[in-house]
Amino acid sequence: MIKNIRIRVTPEVAFVGGRALEETVAEAAGLRSGEMTGFRIRRRSIDARQRNIVVDLTIDVYVEEPLPQEEFEKVTYPDVSDRPQVVVIGAGPAGLFAALRLIELRLRPVVLERGQDVHTRKKDIARISREHVVDAESNFGFGEGGAGAFSDGKLFTRSKKRGSVEKILRVFCQMGANPDILRDAHPHLGTDRLPAIIEQMRLQIICCGGEVRFGTRVDTLLFSADHKAVVGVVTAAGTEVLGPVILATGHSARDVYRYLLSAGVSLEAKGIAMGVRVEHPSALIDRIQYHSREGRGAWLPAAEYSFLTRQGGRGVYSFCMCPGGVIVPAATAAGQVVVNGMSPAARGGRWSNSGMVVETLPDDVTAFQDFFPLCEAEMPAADDPLRVMALQEAVEHMAWVQGGSRQTAPAQRMTDFVNGRLSATLPDVSYTPGTIASPIHFWLPAFFTTRLQGAFKQFGKRSRGFLSADAVVLAPETRTSAPVRILRQPETLQSAAYPGLYPCGEGAGYAGGIVSAAIDGERCAEAVAQRLAQA
Ligand SMILES: Cc1cc2nc3c(=O)[nH]c(=O)nc-3n(C[C@H](O)[C@H](O)[C@H](O)COP(=O)(O)OP(=O)(O)OC[C@H]3O[C@@H](n4cnc5c(N)ncnc54)[C@H](O)[C@@H]3O)c2cc1C
Repeated sequence: MIKNIRIRVTPEVAFVGGRALEETVAEAAGLRSGEMTGFRIRRRSIDARQRNIVVDLTIDVYVEEPLPQEEFEKVTYPDVSDRPQVVVIGAGPAGLFAALRLIELRLRPVVLERGQDVHTRKKDIARISREHVVDAESNFGFGEGGAGAFSDGKLFTRSKKRGSVEKILRVFCQMGANPDILRDAHPHLGTDRLPAIIEQMRLQIICCGGEVRFGTRVDTLLFSADHKAVVGVVTAAGTEVLGPVILATGHSARDVYRYLLSAGVSLEAKGIAMGVRVEHPSALIDRIQYHSREGRGAWLPAAEYSFLTRQGGRGVYSFCMCPGGVIVPAATAAGQVVVNGMSPAARGGRWSNSGMVVETLPDDVTAFQDFFPLCEAEMPAADDPLRVMALQEAVEHMAWVQGGSRQTAPAQRMTDFVNGRLSATLPDVSYTPGTIASPIHFWLPAFFTTRLQGAFKQFGKRSRGFLSADAVVLAPETRTSAPVRILRQPETLQSAAYPGLYPCGEGAGYAGGIVSAAIDGERCAEAVAQRLAQA
């Protein structure tokens, strides 16, 4: 028999486990010692609303039956060497999960990735901080694992499709992730653990007869003779690869959006959120969130936070919070400064950061007519599908100029940003290319700054200590999601313009984050399999 129980225990009992947890579980289940053969924690969440912090555990208790050896069900991947071929562009979460699902469905994926494998990529990423050089083909956005490789690896999603979320988490575990992600309310992998997991996915694809080609940028689509359908792709080296095409190129492949527009693929502008990234000492965030001068103590993890408000008719919110993490240079080409955040599995770093962003709608771009000329950029037409992307580019270029035409990020103490004054000094921050004191409140368009200033004041009242001179604002945070949607048929998931093309994942505008991109990758693989089965 399996008894399902819920208990509330101290962080020590929850995170250390052992005898104390065993006794608590047996008592809560009404069992005498020896009656319980074992137990599995199904759900673990920290309740930090009160001064006394507790951990909620949902537990399956096994009574008079053995605890199963396997903690999760594994997926079987067959050999697909001689099965029909499907082209997958991009080895981010969407592309990798599409490829694995294609194998499950007995199709042979050929994954084409412009960047390098996840290990070579580390060297290219290190050069950004050391030499201020961004390799346009291998960086924080491009390369094996996509934007998800050097990230926090937060796997929390608002997706309601629980079944699909669990499947993605199980595949991550099968590829080497800690099974804690199956139970934690806010699971995360950590940037130090991700490369090995991603490499394992690649090895699985190859071992089943699929292919993964690095340094292989796709430049154009290949059309049928009547130009009515997509039948393959052409790489930058001129190689043709045939098959239905899953296009999972992420939100930073601006050349792809430009090409698609010129090729007549239906696109529309999509709203995104832009702003800044704010970094606090993690000890300060721990003290605030855990309501204790001692901070997190010995057992609790670095504290998270989440803020949301409305200012001037637009949502302003914290985004991609990285407890105990670092701010990273996430530009994907020269002449841009972009900040983002990541953290290792242990989240033990000195700082905690998060994006603080303002909802920006496609029609808002008209409000920036004075800003584009300042960035030596042309104001896009009011109906241009790439107008939100143009705004992203303008803000990123302006930040690059303000940062001294290097990867140095413009920075300002949080209180100075709110009060509209330049910071005389800046505290240490985690951003390794360095910072330069800059009046961000002045050069970042008022559309963002006035809303952020109002929001920061509110957040500071809600959580005393959050609006702090010890916190630093770095600019800009612009890559929160795709600025474009590649239109697709809701039933077949094929491009509204060209059958045979499956716009997929975050870049297509149908996902936001690792898990939802992975789910969309699986869905696109299923749609391809369905079409091939009908042909
Ligand atoms: C620093 C950082 C931290 C993040 N932290 C988190 C987090 O903690 N949790 C979370 O859920 N999300 C996080 N994200 C966002 C997350 O990484 C993305 O939502 C996710 O990776 C999107 O997956 P995708 O596969 O759709 O696209 P991407 O991951 O962007 O992958 C697209 C891939 O396509 C390749 N490509 C592009 N153009 C071409 C071409 N022409 N030919 C061949 N290949 C091409 C790119 O090189 C890239 O590898 C973070 C992002 C960054 C940058």
